[in-house]
Amino acid sequence: MADYDVIIAGGGLAGTIAAQSVSHYSKQGLKILVVDRNSSFLPGRKSVGGWICGDAVSKEAVDYMSERIKVNWTDPEIEHKVKGVMAFSPNRETSIPFDGDGYMLNRQKLPERQNERSMKMGINFDFEVNLTGLIYDGSQVVGVQGVDNKNKQPYKKTAKIVIDATGITSMLRNQIQNTTKIERKVDRRDVESTGRHIMYFENGEEDLSEFDPDYCIIHLDQDIAPGGYGWVFPKGKNKVNIGLGVEKTLLDKRNKRLGKNDNVSMLIDQYVARNRAIKNPKLSTDPEDKNNATGNFQVSVRRQNDCLVANGYMLVGDAAWMPKPLDAGGIGPALVAGTIIGKCAVEAIQKGDVTEKGLWNYNKEFINEYGYKTAGLEVFRRLIQTLTNEQIDYGMKHFLGNLDVEAISKGEHPDFSALGKLGMIIRGALNKKLADGLKFTTQQNRWLTEHYYNYPDSPEGFADWSQKLHKVLDESNAKLEQFQN
Ligand SMILES: Cc1cc2nc3c(=O)[nH]c(=O)nc-3n(C[C@H](O)[C@H](O)[C@H](O)COP(=O)(O)OP(=O)(O)OC[C@H]3O[C@@H](n4cnc5c(N)ncnc54)[C@H](O)[C@@H]3O)c2cc1C
Repeated sequence: MADYDVIIAGGGLAGTIAAQSVSHYSKQGLKILVVDRNSSFLPGRKSVGGWICGDAVSKEAVDYMSERIKVNWTDPEIEHKVKGVMAFSPNRETSIPFDGDGYMLNRQKLPERQNERSMKMGINFDFEVNLTGLIYDGSQVVGVQGVDNKNKQPYKKTAKIVIDATGITSMLRNQIQNTTKIERKVDRRDVESTGRHIMYFENGEEDLSEFDPDYCIIHLDQDIAPGGYGWVFPKGKNKVNIGLGVEKTLLDKRNKRLGKNDNVSMLIDQYVARNRAIKNPKLSTDPEDKNNATGNFQVSVRRQNDCLVANGYMLVGDAAWMPKPLDAGGIGPALVAGTIIGKCAVEAIQKGDVTEKGLWNYNKEFINEYGYKTAGLEVFRRLIQTLTNEQIDYGMKHFLGNLDVEAISKGEHPDFSALGKLGMIIRGALNKKLADGLKFTTQQNRWLTEHYYNYPDSPEGFADWSQKLHKVLDESNAKLEQFQN
């Protein structure tokens, strides 16, 4: 007999939502344990650096979770409200809004509140346990193991299902032994190196392209944040979450091009210093930021893992590479997947089938709700990363119509198939190349989206589906190499 019905490995953002969802859908009828390496005083911390994040999430994603599992986020975990995200071209001439109403969270407070709520629901917690792997019975995952740092003793707990929410570096996923469908390692080029400060400042020049208390600002600029973007997200009129993300190989190229040797931390400090609206910035010393005012971490920007389940095992959040490929927003998909995973885990337990087949529906439900678009966005992201600032300026100014902006605002790939038609004159060879690239990624996106909607209904169809997926992704990547300037 297992110690628990469900063990959630990792009590971060995705883990606590998954635990609450299992509790909700089972009407508190299942025995649930959350295991995390942090102490109960610093719950959900990503690393010793803190809860490193841009802290922004759309209201829509929070509502998705709240309406279904009846958990409401309020003050103090919601620190500030915004009207959306505004992405600026490098020359600041064009801006596109996306995501709509949203929240700036306090990521240090959020897990404290999440844990209070979870404990009231009867969810159990084991803190200060460093998980190192899964326990198997034949080909079935039946638990987790590691070291209990409180007494330095080996730790073992069993369950019918283990939900892996241990974040991007997941040791459980990296070493999983009972599946060939789950990918274990992420490609370096699909990871952004990022960091940020949480700061108070005095008002400098009024410039809404630099700081806007009502909008999360994104700066696209291959010199400032090569292969990523810089962000200035308001936490009040004089408080900001400011940072940037880069793709390492593109940072190296940028350094070579500019004759510099900057790393991510240096780029962030330069980015803060050049912001005209932000004067005398100081790291926040608020009690609710004191362990979290500055730090660097990594985030994936690819499609979610091709398969999210194995016998007795399910993946959620950053452990499953869920952050959106275009903007690295991982909170929204974690809210969606965390909600769905609980429902699917409960259904599998109630049906008495916690094998890969019994858990398979989670793949389908997540893809139909969110995951259908991520492979297309991954290809789109690769194209954008090849562009020069001049191409981004031109493309945002001339190629984005209202419908494209609407698609982007919904997190969908815009339809560029008509680019260059209707007598449109595209100036410059590089911009023609860009138009060709956008038409190409539109076409690939169409195929990929369709392919994801045809995700197999059971594990038997996976090999064929996956082979077709990888053929098209490989072809797309080979073609995109040609767009490199
Ligand atoms: C700089 C930066 C900015 C970002 N900005 C945004 C943003 O503005 N909006 C947005 O939506 N997303 C953003 N993201 C992404 C977002 O932060 C993540 O998607 C989100 O935190 C994922 O939550 P998670 O619970 O899956 O993983 P995590 O938050 O990483 O939580 C994992 C948990 O598991 C625990 N754990 C890990 N390994 C073990 C182990 N071996 N044993 C026991 N416990 C373990 C950790 O301590 C932690 O508590 C950003 C990411 C970064 C790095």
